[in-house]
Amino acid sequence: MVTFVNLQMLKLFSNIKNKFTNELPGDLIESVETRQVVEAAFSYINPIKPQNPKLIHVSKEVADSVGITTEELESEDFLNIFSGTTVLDNTKPYAMAYAGHQFGNWAGQLGDGRAITIFEATHNNKSTMFQLKGAGKTPYSRRGDGLAVLRSSIREHLCSEAMYNLRVPTTRSLALFTSGAMVLRDILYNGNADYEKGAIVCRTAPSFIRFGNFELFASREDTKNLQLLTDFTIKHYFPKIKSEGKDKYLKFFETVADKTRNMIVHWQRVGFVHGVMNTDNMSIHGITIDYGPYGWLEDYNPNWTPNTTDNEHKRYRFGNQPQIAQWNLLQLANALFPLIEEVKPLEKILNEFPIKYEEDYILMMHNKLGFENSNEETKNCIQLVTENLQLTDTDMTIFFRNLSQVSKEDTVENAFEKIKDAFYNLKEAKNSTYDTWLYWFTMYINELRKENPSDLERKTAMNLVNPKYVLRNYMAQLAIDDAEKEDYTLLNQIYEMLLKPYEEQPQFEKWFTKRPDWAKNKVGCSALSCSS
Ligand code: AMP
Ligand code: MG
Repeated sequence: MVTFVNLQMLKLFSNIKNKFTNELPGDLIESVETRQVVEAAFSYINPIKPQNPKLIHVSKEVADSVGITTEELESEDFLNIFSGTTVLDNTKPYAMAYAGHQFGNWAGQLGDGRAITIFEATHNNKSTMFQLKGAGKTPYSRRGDGLAVLRSSIREHLCSEAMYNLRVPTTRSLALFTSGAMVLRDILYNGNADYEKGAIVCRTAPSFIRFGNFELFASREDTKNLQLLTDFTIKHYFPKIKSEGKDKYLKFFETVADKTRNMIVHWQRVGFVHGVMNTDNMSIHGITIDYGPYGWLEDYNPNWTPNTTDNEHKRYRFGNQPQIAQWNLLQLANALFPLIEEVKPLEKILNEFPIKYEEDYILMMHNKLGFENSNEETKNCIQLVTENLQLTDTDMTIFFRNLSQVSKEDTVENAFEKIKDAFYNLKEAKNSTYDTWLYWFTMYINELRKENPSDLERKTAMNLVNPKYVLRNYMAQLAIDDAEKEDYTLLNQIYEMLLKPYEEQPQFEKWFTKRPDWAKNKVGCSALSCSS
């Protein structure tokens, strides 16, 4: 029996509308047995009751946005409902069925192997799905245990909120719990398995529908359910699309392409590398989803990927993310094809993707450099700066943040002094790249002098797109190391800092610094496996 502490959360629960399960066909079997689930968009399955759930961290901001008060966050009800201990009477949790292309290959049925959506509720006219990650086995768990460990759950919780505050479209994370169970993981896949603390993250999104949900029905030539799912998605999440028939599906595809492009431009702006851009990890809403072996560029290197599983081909490297987004959209186009049956208009949207991306990217880079003007010279500056950043290890975040301090009156030598903290080895940078940088600053300052805004105005504008604080890979790892010892001070601190990534926060100045040497090749800090 669930008793409610206060009316507010009760109001949220009285606004439960399980659209996905009410309007789409479900699996007729209710068991966790691993199997192929056909002609169904989901399988009903309850989360396993955690042995000893403890709330480790909660996002008051997410709670507030869904109508849960700060007082309620401390209640037993909150702990029980959002850790999967209690299932509300008027809800029926489920795992979604989806398929996907993984690392460029068709992988067949995948599905929520360890994610269970507990319900969907509306607050202030905004509908939100609440999903527990690490809540136990489902029919889609394949060989997995359906569980998640603390380290990867901390990474998902912190990064979702860091991304949101950076204004990058993303799923969000309401709360992080430890489950009380120990979970066996072989982090490096080298035969050294060990027990780690189990955890559960309650994440939120308008929906968790992925490209792979459409691919699943298409791959089975189940056009009836493909159409049902697509109509459902458009009706609830793309209400601006008013056309009918083929045009409706084309418009849908075009909108998804636009949203995906927007998300990728943001990733490139802040230096985020997703690490596993498989089509099952691509949200239909164009929001970042499934934080696994992601990472943040520290030294600017387009060839970098944090994912050790992808070490050889580096398919999901930073510089390849736009191309991969297009490739993934091609798979979505193939999936939607039975509803459209015309190649040309789909091809047109796909072919326009890189052209529009380039325009958006150039605009975004103009903003990063503080240019309001746009011409051949400013574009040249952009081209050259990305080349220069690769000459020697140069910290992306520090470089762009400090660049805003350069003034129209600076000499090139002065300007160099202002960004020099970005070099991992200043001596080497001075020896081998000084002249190249002075040449670049000559061009840059020359362009700045043609700009209308004052130095201060430009600095203010630049500081709104060039964050001061990002979730550096080693920072997350330090928070994890402490959390494993039940010390959550650092986790709290980093979370607080990342609420305002564009603001100067003197109390956090020590985090505005390059990755320390010890972290360069440490597991968890630069290299991560998919083990989670
Ligand atoms: P990912 O690479 O994390 O996006 O996961 C790919 C697929 O593997 C998805 O279907 C996941 O639900 C599933 N999966 C990942 N880890 C586990 C696990 N520990 N137990 C069950 N399924 C998992
Ligand atoms: Mg996934």
